[in-house]
Amino acid sequence: MINEYKGIWVFAEQREGKLQEVTLELLGKSRIMADKIKDKVTALLLGENVSHLSDELISYGADSVVIVEDSSLKAYQTNAYTSAIRQIVNKHKPSILLFGATTIGRDLAPRLSTRLETGLSADCIDLEIDKDGILIQTKPSFGGNIMVEIICPNRRPQMATVRPKVLGTPEKDLKRKGSKVFETVSINPTDILTTLIKSVKETTSAEKIEDASIVVAGGRGMQNKENFDKLYPLADVLGAMVGGTRPAVNEGWIGEDKQIGQSGKTISPKLMICCGIGGAVQYLVGMQTAETVIAINKDPNAAIFNYADYGIVGDCSEIIPILTEKLRSLLRK
Ligand SMILES: Cc1cc2nc3c(=O)[nH]c(=O)nc-3n(C[C@H](O)[C@H](O)[C@H](O)COP(=O)(O)OP(=O)(O)OC[C@H]3O[C@@H](n4cnc5c(N)ncnc54)[C@H](O)[C@@H]3O)c2cc1C
Repeated sequence: MINEYKGIWVFAEQREGKLQEVTLELLGKSRIMADKIKDKVTALLLGENVSHLSDELISYGADSVVIVEDSSLKAYQTNAYTSAIRQIVNKHKPSILLFGATTIGRDLAPRLSTRLETGLSADCIDLEIDKDGILIQTKPSFGGNIMVEIICPNRRPQMATVRPKVLGTPEKDLKRKGSKVFETVSINPTDILTTLIKSVKETTSAEKIEDASIVVAGGRGMQNKENFDKLYPLADVLGAMVGGTRPAVNEGWIGEDKQIGQSGKTISPKLMICCGIGGAVQYLVGMQTAETVIAINKDPNAAIFNYADYGIVGDCSEIIPILTEKLRSLLRK
């Protein structure tokens, strides 16, 4: 019975005892939705010796934390986590169950939704709730050309994965109070089909574009590698990172790890300068939460100007070196 399902639950993703930022973002949004319909927010925390993270989850918006500590949950393992969450969901019956669209969330949520025989909207970029507790899940669809709103009216829980960096991080409130509930699960060792031999950390020391507070991005309008490389001195002056659109990546002007958009990274910088970028939906979904956007494009009717706070109409190859010098002399003063 759908009426038996109550509350908004967030899977508290932790790695080596550190909560992932997307968990905090989901808690913030869940708090807003729960307050709207006078419901509760619960964080579901799995791992080994992880209960110390409960206070942080409460301070970011959880009313309660359900903690499952088990040695088989120490590192993420698909089958162990699926089995544990399934048992907890069947017992507590949350109305909504949310995951970050991280590697772990993208692995876990579809498997769980099949086991729980409910729907899942993957890679959402926004969530809302109506007065009856129906979760409205917004995501790009049909190749990213349109935004769709998806609901799951007949099955519970309503499940979604949400991209990191699209919801914004809520303020931490250390005065918030919440409850902690310890649960046990039974995980059959024979259900675990894989053995974790060792985990290897990414060795790259390169900074992630997702973490940059200023991004200078270039698109097809940069025309060639030589022009594209003019973005780096501008980025240096501003202490920014350089990113690109998919065509810029396809042309080999910049690496794939710096692609912004639907099939690339989602970023949320304080300042974003878009150079020679048209403003396709698939690009915009990756940067729509940027605080201030400046666009440089030679076409005054380019769609990017509809999203920019400031616009410069002109040729990037001429404007960017002038802008770089101007900023350099201003910032030197
Ligand atoms: C499923 C799917 C996923 C996708 N995922 C992504 C994604 O993750 N990221 C992404 O970026 N795209 C993605 N795309 C592609 C997307 O649809 C667009 O094709 C792409 O974003 C366009 O990139 P652009 O703005 O660099 O190029 P264009 O759209 O060609 O725009 C170039 C702009 O540069 C301007 N210009 C040209 N010359 C100059 C000059 N000298 N000076 C100033 N301005 C100039 C032009 O006026 C134009 O507005 C995806 C598409 C699909 C179907």
